[in-house]
Amino acid sequence: MREAFEGKCTCGFVRYRMASRPLFVNCCHCTWCQRETGSAFAINAMIEADRVEVIAGEPVRIDTPSNSGKGQKITRCPKCHVALWSNYAGAGDAVRFVRVGTLEEPGRMPPDIHIFISTKQPWVVLPPGTPAMEEYYDRKKYWPKESLERREAMIK
Ligand SMILES: [Zn+2]
Ligand SMILES: [Zn+2]
Repeated sequence: MREAFEGKCTCGFVRYRMASRPLFVNCCHCTWCQRETGSAFAINAMIEADRVEVIAGEPVRIDTPSNSGKGQKITRCPKCHVALWSNYAGAGDAVRFVRVGTLEEPGRMPPDIHIFISTKQPWVVLPPGTPAMEEYYDRKKYWPKESLERREAMIK
């Protein structure tokens, strides 16, 4: 049986379910993520859009600037405005970057990689054994084979 993961916004109006494990989990230490979260980093689980099902409420998509300059669309609860996932220009609508902290059990999705550690807060100590990149990374080098195949299937 496939694993499923449920999440929600803070007020509980919007609830969603991820129908499988994500493709990959990025922990991003860039200054944009720091500002958007009000924290030291963002944890984003990348997953095919059609594997994320809204099971309650109706989220809204807000056009938001992004580090790349190409913008992102952030999906938020229309009531409490908490961000649930982003779509970036690169992968477009096909891939959602789900905010792992909105899952019921965020501990089930630890980061597969740390990125933009050139702007990491100095007090954040990275765990040994998880790849850490100064900026972005080459997907082909770090994603598991199965995730690369899922991505191939998606963009066909
Ligand atoms: Zn809400
Ligand atoms: Zn970032």
